[in-house]
Amino acid sequence: LFITLEGGEGVGKSTQLALLERALQARGLDILVTREPGGSPVAEDLRNLLLFGQHSFSRRSEILTHFAARFDHVDQVIEPALAAGKLVVCDRFTDSTLAYQAYGRAEGEVGTLSLINNLQKQLGRQPDMTFLLEVSRDTARRRLAARGKPTDRYEKSDEDFHIRVAEGFRTIAEQNKNRVIVLSTEHMPAEKVNAVIVEHILSRL
Ligand code: C5P
Repeated sequence: LFITLEGGEGVGKSTQLALLERALQARGLDILVTREPGGSPVAEDLRNLLLFGQHSFSRRSEILTHFAARFDHVDQVIEPALAAGKLVVCDRFTDSTLAYQAYGRAEGEVGTLSLINNLQKQLGRQPDMTFLLEVSRDTARRRLAARGKPTDRYEKSDEDFHIRVAEGFRTIAEQNKNRVIVLSTEHMPAEKVNAVIVEHILSRL
């Protein structure tokens, strides 16, 4: 089973990932937790370039670089783990490329969406289940301000960008109801969100 966690900055994705890893391990499941961009040695190098590189990518080269990282991650890490019967949990995947690069950066331009969709088709591997975490913009902004970690290129982006990303994720969820489970975490303690996610996953095993 291939599971992905998605959402904008400050939605509680990292917290949920840590709780999920612990909960699944406690049940004795053979799991692999990984992340994007990154997840394989080559893809982690590309992550540094994407998030902290000196120069800015053109729209298309940024998408291709995300997919170069993703192909390597899928070929070298995800497929072998799935073939070995592991449950793979990935922090972000192609939905993030759609949300950030197509809806955020390119404002939903058709050519950009189709470039990503074509690359995804070539890649082949789709998540079996995706959890999209959501909070209000106010809450997300408050959490980011409190976090104080070094910000990458995208976290520095303006408010409109983050709103487009959040709306993009919404659109993706609506178009993929069979796969995407939307969880509003605004008024839910992290442990409760975790319990809901675990329940969904166990029901699919
Ligand atoms: O998962 P995390 O929030 O740590 O993601 C790292 C950074 O990469 C974030 O700032 C996110 O916005 C950015 N990102 C991106 N495009 C992607 C995936 C991640 O801009 N396709």
